[in-house]
Amino acid sequence: MKIKKGDTVVVTQGDDASKAPRHVTQVLDGGKKVVIQGVNQVYKHVRKGHPKSPAGGRLLLEMPIPSSRVMYHCNSCSQATRLGYRYTGDGTKERYCKKCSASCGTVSPSRESYSSK
Ligand SMILES: [Zn+2]
Repeated sequence: MKIKKGDTVVVTQGDDASKAPRHVTQVLDGGKKVVIQGVNQVYKHVRKGHPKSPAGGRLLLEMPIPSSRVMYHCNSCSQATRLGYRYTGDGTKERYCKKCSASCGTVSPSRESYSSK
């Protein structure tokens, strides 16, 4: 799974499916599940004394959804896309958009940065 915390994604299936890009706030289960801002929200009723709600009442929480229901949203071409991995000239591993082939962030640093240590 190539989705990381902080990525922008589009939810493609389920009740929260929409074309609006949203932010991933958490990646769980080794990438099998993701928590996305404003998606799959539930009210959890809590008693008095809960750390997030000392007075008790309802907490609005976001629950994880399977990561198969989301697609990466590329910031350079503004489309839902698939990601690939590739190596640049100096051995830096990066993710890239399969539609516009823009870089979507480094996965591991270049060979030089290993050998210089
Ligand atoms: Zn793109």
